[in-house]
Amino acid sequence: MMTTLILGATYRIFCPDCGQSYDQGILEGFSRVPPLTCGYCGAHNTSATRLPDLRFENHGTVGLVRPLSQLGQHFLDTTHPEDAQFLGQAMAVEPRYVAGVIDAAVEAGLKMEVA
Ligand SMILES: [Zn+2]
Repeated sequence: MMTTLILGATYRIFCPDCGQSYDQGILEGFSRVPPLTCGYCGAHNTSATRLPDLRFENHGTVGLVRPLSQLGQHFLDTTHPEDAQFLGQAMAVEPRYVAGVIDAAVEAGLKMEVA
């Protein structure tokens, strides 16, 4: 059974009325949907696109998994092996383990991008 994570994923909000585009952290889980009211002008016809939670960067001999949202950060905090190496916020992963990390992230419901 999958655990529902109730943590912030990040959405890009776009308002066609005032032209503002901004990122907003929004809780995941249950049926909560991004607010459709613009934070600038109050218009109700904004659109919200979920941004990636993790970015995978291929650096040849090593891959980096970088958290982009609270959800992505939580995933790394709670799933990384004890001997994991971090470069700043990014976790270093040997290429042969990258597929496993991606599978685990997908199963946890994260959205990813590959750089
Ligand atoms: Zn607006």
